[in-house]
Amino acid sequence: MSKIAIIGNGISGVTAARFIRKNSMHEVVLISEESEYFFSRTALMYVYMGHMRWKDIQPYERGFWKKNKIDLIQARAESIQFDKKCIQLNNGSTVNYDYLILATGSKSNKYGWPGQDLSGVRGLYHKQDLEYLERCSSGIRRAVIVGGGLIGIELAEMFQSRNIPVSFLVREPQFWSMILPEEESKMISRHILQHGIDLRLNSQLKEINGDEAGKVHSVTLDSGEEIKCDYVGLTAGVSPNIKFIESSEIETDRGILVDEYLRTNIPDVFAIGDCAQLRNPRRGRRDVEAVWYTGRMMGECVAQTICGEQKIYDPGIWFNSAKFFDIEYQVYGQVPSKMTDDLESFYWAHENGKKSIRIVYEKIQQTVVGFNLMGIRFRHEVCEQWILRKSTLDKVLEEIRLAFFDPEFYEDCSAAILENYCKKFGKKIEATAGWRLDEANLFLNKNNQKT
Ligand SMILES: Cc1cc2nc3c(=O)[nH]c(=O)nc-3n(C[C@H](O)[C@H](O)[C@H](O)COP(=O)(O)OP(=O)(O)OC[C@H]3O[C@@H](n4cnc5c(N)ncnc54)[C@H](O)[C@@H]3O)c2cc1C
Repeated sequence: MSKIAIIGNGISGVTAARFIRKNSMHEVVLISEESEYFFSRTALMYVYMGHMRWKDIQPYERGFWKKNKIDLIQARAESIQFDKKCIQLNNGSTVNYDYLILATGSKSNKYGWPGQDLSGVRGLYHKQDLEYLERCSSGIRRAVIVGGGLIGIELAEMFQSRNIPVSFLVREPQFWSMILPEEESKMISRHILQHGIDLRLNSQLKEINGDEAGKVHSVTLDSGEEIKCDYVGLTAGVSPNIKFIESSEIETDRGILVDEYLRTNIPDVFAIGDCAQLRNPRRGRRDVEAVWYTGRMMGECVAQTICGEQKIYDPGIWFNSAKFFDIEYQVYGQVPSKMTDDLESFYWAHENGKKSIRIVYEKIQQTVVGFNLMGIRFRHEVCEQWILRKSTLDKVLEEIRLAFFDPEFYEDCSAAILENYCKKFGKKIEATAGWRLDEANLFLNKNNQKT
């Protein structure tokens, strides 16, 4: 039996602990600073908005850890002596290990803006950030959000739920335009404005200004304009939280460098989740992917390797989902913000300006490589199978209804999409499949038998 220490009790660390327990009787100790118990970071916004209580976002009962013989230590790991396999904690104690898993997550980016450490200026990542925001909220007459990504728009929605006016600074010409293609980016920019947010495109923060007590009172933009505010949310992305080991012998770049087995350069030391950077990511995947499900997959994978069944980390085809206020967003496969020379896309938008689909395909072979969906939910497995099967654009359009959910709950736009496609491309295509789950399952099973 070995002793396994895990630093970080987020989704990746907790998944690793659970699966090590499932697969073995190894001793497991989970060290984490932020909170005693695991919680769902993705649900933080719902606590602020009053949809959930703090206890609702902790999926395991208190007794779970003891019952499963997973020891919890709430402390910060200050440093690690890798040669002695020993972790030094901020409470003065040490923890020895046979295997170590680093799962320390991300931190909010700060770019050295003047005034970034004033009181009333904070990122949104940790539980303590939310608690701080809660303490400040009653005194906020206007908030400024710096950085237009997924956390920025969540923060805008959070402020709005408390009737706090928001100015939202986005450096790019449209919201999230480094990731979203132009039409989708414009759709979401419009949507943000429709929600009464003062969205400032092409706007860069120059400095954050404070009063004599060190409390924020305004921000100055590059244009020279000053916006009065009582709170500044810094949401210009996140980066791996690895400062405490950067000067050690472990190899890092933006994150902790790992191979396909999630091994670092130090024997018996692994890194998973947001803090890990893959040396050789798979085609179509990034080296650092700060999303929930990849943390979970890495946790499961590393547990298997440590328990003796070496497993390569293979996240499959890229997917992600989020929401922009009430517009749901899903992406499967490759959807570049600007089409490359070899790719084209078919784009259809609903007349209400709040729903669209984009299907990306290879120009020459016409094979589909990606889907971008706004306000319309497609079945994940169906999209994945189309991409894996290298289905042509015509074939996907013929079968498009397979991806739709029950139209009793979701509007079935497939006829309008097909009509628009035939018109644009001068084709005659008829739907060959329905939306019913049994048809989708048949399609998936059929394909499973083939592969
Ligand atoms: C507001 C918000 C909304 C999000 N929404 C989504 C979403 O909708 N979908 C999605 O896919 N992703 C979302 N994400 C991203 C997702 O939450 C992260 O990708 C995921 O939580 C990362 O998990 P992790 O286990 O790698 O690290 P984390 O969850 O960051 O956990 C790491 C833990 O390690 C602790 N730690 C760090 N250093 C030390 C140390 N030296 N000693 C002790 N403990 C340490 C940290 O305090 C932290 O508790 C969101 C993130 C935020 C902030």
